[in-house]
Amino acid sequence: PIDVLEGDVAWITGASSGIGEHIALALAQAGVRLVLSARRKAELDRVKQKCIEIGRNLKDEDILVLPLDVTDYDCHQECFDRVIDHFGTLDILINNAGRSQRADWEKIELSVDKQMFDLNVFGVVALSRIAVRYFLEKGGGHIAVTSSLAGVFGVPFSGTYDGTKHAIHGYFNGLLAEKIGKNIHVTLLCPGPTFSNFLAESFTDTAGEKYGQPVRPTDRRMTGERCGKLCAVAIANRQREAWMGLFPLMPLV
Ligand code: NDP
Repeated sequence: PIDVLEGDVAWITGASSGIGEHIALALAQAGVRLVLSARRKAELDRVKQKCIEIGRNLKDEDILVLPLDVTDYDCHQECFDRVIDHFGTLDILINNAGRSQRADWEKIELSVDKQMFDLNVFGVVALSRIAVRYFLEKGGGHIAVTSSLAGVFGVPFSGTYDGTKHAIHGYFNGLLAEKIGKNIHVTLLCPGPTFSNFLAESFTDTAGEKYGQPVRPTDRRMTGERCGKLCAVAIANRQREAWMGLFPLMPLV
């Protein structure tokens, strides 16, 4: 079902590892032209090579590596212009970059709360606004966001992260209500626990204290590959909200 996207241009943030990398690979297999963004250029180059190897009819110029710190809001317009200069169009923006820092609800520091909101919320808001303006002029477009099941439920030791992801749902529900009939599509991707760098980091608070269970290879979490494929299918189907991997959440709580 992802084949319907063949030839489209999709811009993925957080494409240098984890879920973003695997969304990129799944879309490449379906012949989607890609913009890969994150801070680590060497990792983006690695993902680009993999995409070309497994991609459907993708040549070097069909994948643009565009390093970007999503919290550097001032450079978003310049990056967007580079995408349009390169491909002449953008069909889908996939806001996937994000992080979590777990801590006791009453102990987490305000500076850490702010860092999570800067990346998981304002990074998405700032980039999406530029894309939506363009989509409205163009006659339509599609925004996807890697939210989380934590954007739907509350998870212990995760209040701020849950707050960032819930905020994203409200923000895009507002957009859809306002732009009804304008051919703007939104997909809120809501994975459950998935193996990636993210979980290893997210179980330690700033004081180095660990929360929840450590990540073990035997845990019932989705692989990044499975999660990436499910996300790509949800995007291809323009599904408004896609929950995935609910079952593996149970050992966490
Ligand atoms: P990873 O840590 O593997 O990936 C995070 C990605 O975000 C990396 O590519 C990282 O690249 C990028 N990133 C981080 N900070 C920035 C920044 N300031 N600017 C640009 N890119 C940035 O974790 P996941 O793949 O797990 O996380 C991806 C998304 O999935 C997140 O939004 C997360 O909230 C969500 N999610 C994860 C779940 C899980 O269990 N793993 C479950 C549900 C949702 P770089 O360091 O190169 O910048």
